[in-house]
Amino acid sequence: MGGRVALVTGAAAGIGRACAMRLAEEGHAIGILDLDQAAVDKVAEEIKAAGGRAIGLSASVTDRAAIKAAVDTLRAEFGPVTIVVNNAGVTDFTPFEEVTDELFDKVYSVNVKGVFIVTQAVLPDMKAEKWGRIVNLSSSSAQTGAVRMPTYSSSKGAIVTFTRSLAQELGPLGITVNNIPPGSIMDTVMSQASISKMPMGMDELVQTIPVRRVGQARDIANACAFLASEASGYVTGQTLGVNGGRVVS
Ligand code: NAD
Repeated sequence: MGGRVALVTGAAAGIGRACAMRLAEEGHAIGILDLDQAAVDKVAEEIKAAGGRAIGLSASVTDRAAIKAAVDTLRAEFGPVTIVVNNAGVTDFTPFEEVTDELFDKVYSVNVKGVFIVTQAVLPDMKAEKWGRIVNLSSSSAQTGAVRMPTYSSSKGAIVTFTRSLAQELGPLGITVNNIPPGSIMDTVMSQASISKMPMGMDELVQTIPVRRVGQARDIANACAFLASEASGYVTGQTLGVNGGRVVS
């Protein structure tokens, strides 16, 4: 188990942090990438305190030069980067007619272009090692659509399709590509900021979820650990819903 090098984007908090901690438990060395150096260093210290290996990397996924530098730093510290979790994302609840060019570009720049930039930066290592695991965070809103989320949900829909296409291109090289569309993971900054915009209250929401609870970042991290593992080698191009059974596809 373990022993590989993983880059997790948006890992200072929420789902990204949980994925980073979980992959560290598997024995992987982790690059904790997010916007704020102090925040990524804090998560890296937590992993090291638990006996793991980690380094904090501050960069925006939209900045190709900064991402290349971050990957170079991670490789120099721990070796070739063969696992990437494309988790960094921004949400938006603007009704369609009010969506401006600036807003559209901001959401797509992080949620779509950022995934392209980060994946391109780690791909040479994966190709050289003839092994790779690419795990993309999409959204259950990409599967169902969502009121007041035309920009966000469509950006995540792009990630579902990107996953399918890249899996076909990279499968012959020993690299798998899958996506996880989370649903109602409430212990994150993004979800807490969204509660007031949700069309229903928490109690009502729980009644729509077959397992009768909201999700936790750790639920996503467990699925991420599987998709990043040796054991998932025959799984690629897939959408692994982690949503308590609320969305089935
Ligand atoms: P979060 O807001 O709590 O964490 C996202 C992290 O991404 C933050 O630490 C933020 O600083 C970082 N980030 C934002 N822009 C960045 C950039 N340009 N470069 C680097 N880092 C950047 O969100 P979360 O709830 O943990 O969500 C994680 C992922 O899961 C996102 O892609 C989100 O769209 C997706 N998702 C979450 C839910 C949910 O229920 N929480 C549902 C569907 C999809």
